[in-house]
Amino acid sequence: MPDDSLKVNSNAKGRDANSYDAIVIGSGISGGWAAKELCEKGMKTLVLERGRNIEHIKDYPTMNKAPWEFKNRRAMTKEILKENPLISKAAGYAEDTAHFFVKDKDHPYVQEKPFDWIRGYQVGGKSLIWGRACARWAETDFTAPARYGYGIDWPIRYNDIAPWYSHVERFIGVCGVKEGIETMPDGEFLEGYELNCVEQHLKDVLWEKFKRYYASGRWAQVTDPNEIQKKQGRYCLNRNLCMRGCPFGGYFSSVTSTLPWAKETGNLTVQPFSVVHSVIYDDKKAKATGVRVIDANTKKATEYFADIIFVNASALNSNLILLNSTSNRFPNGLGNDNGLLGKYICHHNYRAGCGGTFEGYRDKYYKVGKPAECIIPNFRNVHNQDTDFVGGYVIFSGAYREKLSERGLSSTIGADFKKAVSEPGGWGAYMYMQGETIPKERNHVRLSRDQTDQWGIPLLITSVDYVIMTIRW
Ligand SMILES: Cc1cc2nc3c(=O)[nH]c(=O)nc-3n(C[C@H](O)[C@H](O)[C@H](O)COP(=O)(O)OP(=O)(O)OC[C@H]3O[C@@H](n4cnc5c(N)ncnc54)[C@H](O)[C@@H]3O)c2cc1C
Repeated sequence: MPDDSLKVNSNAKGRDANSYDAIVIGSGISGGWAAKELCEKGMKTLVLERGRNIEHIKDYPTMNKAPWEFKNRRAMTKEILKENPLISKAAGYAEDTAHFFVKDKDHPYVQEKPFDWIRGYQVGGKSLIWGRACARWAETDFTAPARYGYGIDWPIRYNDIAPWYSHVERFIGVCGVKEGIETMPDGEFLEGYELNCVEQHLKDVLWEKFKRYYASGRWAQVTDPNEIQKKQGRYCLNRNLCMRGCPFGGYFSSVTSTLPWAKETGNLTVQPFSVVHSVIYDDKKAKATGVRVIDANTKKATEYFADIIFVNASALNSNLILLNSTSNRFPNGLGNDNGLLGKYICHHNYRAGCGGTFEGYRDKYYKVGKPAECIIPNFRNVHNQDTDFVGGYVIFSGAYREKLSERGLSSTIGADFKKAVSEPGGWGAYMYMQGETIPKERNHVRLSRDQTDQWGIPLLITSVDYVIMTIRW
């Protein structure tokens, strides 16, 4: 039913003052893009972001710090890990990046089954902390559910989306090497990263023995900026400190790329500390007309209006907002006539990995680290069901010269330490898998009936788990 509990002081300034051509909820990867496209089309666009503002460079407090300038050498203390048992599991969460992740106690949710919901609430959202892997889907990914009868057939195919991949790649900057691989199509690449000698060795051996590709990965790093990326003032110095926020805009984030571009048009308003409670549905007009917002600090409620509303609050928060958008017409959430809102949650699993050392190539070096990895594109179940599971996986991989800690030398001091750091370690290599999970109706999120957050919004209940689906022959 409509939520009457909100006391809305909305129109202190009048409805017109709170009206825009378009409203975008969330300023992360997708919200930044929506804002850029809308502003470029001449629409006055309001971006509502629940977190604080992040200004490029100014709000990257750790961007230039050396390891010894961190109190705990980038490690997390036992206290912080105890206070943040969930978010501290996120890839890349450390002393130098923690400021771009939420704190567990501030943003609770109910785990009906164990589920790690990783969030970054700030202008830029998770675009500040993402891993930047940016490979295209292939035709075989779009056709797999129909081919093997799992999930739901995609209503589009690769050719429908390929021009949009190009549109995005040309703007954000994606590096890669064109290799003509069926399961990882080529794109509009900037210069790709070279493989080091052990990676090249892996490439050669994997092809020779298994006919599998080992390719330079596709990453949203501006290795040799085109004119559009130069206009954005971006270039990558291979510092490999991306998740701290990059003063050079070396990787794509909304804060370095789409939002400043949108701002240049004069059509953009970004409003931080604005927690969207729900979308307003007008029964008479039979359409969504605005959003209800709660000020994150004062808890005051305000309404904003627009003809176009984009919900870009990330997958689970977008579901939360829509489920919370109840009206006489949609008592179970906006557009939720079929009851599927919040269902079929699926994501990647990273359950397999391995590492090892490599004898040889002791006389070969590399000069700079690269903020990128190699990739073994999916080779499973591509045209035929060749395993006892459905879906596929890719493997990320890389090779490196071992650090002191990996050589058991971290506690050396004095002359021994100087000697140890002056000699490169042996070669190490790793692989980890990113697996597809299959959409299932029972994997769902829903709203709590009796628990709310500090803004009076129902807590999200996550009921998501993995069950390996096998096909019996
Ligand atoms: C550690 C890590 C590494 C990753 N690596 C990769 C990778 O290598 N490649 C890849 O493709 N993907 C990667 N991802 C996933 C990727 O970051 C997300 O898919 C992407 O950010 C989703 O974009 P989005 O705009 O939907 O959400 P987000 O980027 O999360 O942005 C959502 C925004 O909405 C705001 N918001 C939420 N609720 C509300 C509300 N009620 N009102 C107002 N604002 C709200 C949030 O604060 C946030 O700013 C990674 C994610 C993590 C956590």
